[in-house]
Amino acid sequence: MTIEAVAGNLAVVRRRIDEAARTAGRDPRSVELIAVAKGHDAAAIQAALEAGHRQFGENRVQEAGKKWPRILAALPDVRLHLIGPLQTNKVREALALFDVIETIDRPRLAEAIHRERRPDHRLRECFVQVNTGEEPQKAGVAPADAEGFIRRCREDWQLPVTGLMCIPPVDEEPSLHFALLADLARRAGLTKLSMGMSADYEIAVAFGATEVRVGTMVFGHRAIVP
Ligand SMILES: *Cc1c(COP(=O)(O)O)cnc(C)c1O
Repeated sequence: MTIEAVAGNLAVVRRRIDEAARTAGRDPRSVELIAVAKGHDAAAIQAALEAGHRQFGENRVQEAGKKWPRILAALPDVRLHLIGPLQTNKVREALALFDVIETIDRPRLAEAIHRERRPDHRLRECFVQVNTGEEPQKAGVAPADAEGFIRRCREDWQLPVTGLMCIPPVDEEPSLHFALLADLARRAGLTKLSMGMSADYEIAVAFGATEVRVGTMVFGHRAIVP
């Protein structure tokens, strides 16, 4: 994709987010666009950076470790979000790379982050991932366990939990899942909601998303499905 194409896509998605926010009576500035760069190369990322974009998502630590360290060193205002599953043996690398880890979903992982965390790491915020559709193959805590797990993340492992994240089942109406996530966050006193992807980010904004994770509509289709 050309720089112009990526810049144009970013502008279109941003405008639709703003419209969806205004329609819902929300301040458009309360919604961040996370450009999901997984499966896309340095040229695509460079195009987004040149368009002034600074919020990015990756779903694999290893892939992010190849693509981002030089950019993060050169541009202090770039923010990188981990939006894919994190294995405990990759925690140290993830803490050094990502500003936000959105996929905290089990005690062993939370405990490993607590143990490995150092002040010079990038990590500033954690989101708890909730498996709103209770799909057996999908990561995330069950909705019924969310409140207790969030409390343990804060009290037992001192994690800076600021929000919740979900990926609704592909074949279901996403709004029910977005509403459930918003309700769980409200009850836990969390203000951030990471929900909505290329197919449903406007719906997510209507239901209170503070970050939407958009890949395909920004960078085009991925060559390899990660
Ligand atoms: C890939 C991915 C996205 C972006 O998906 P698109 O449909 O390409 O916008 C968002 N969230 C997660 C967790 C992903 O893995």
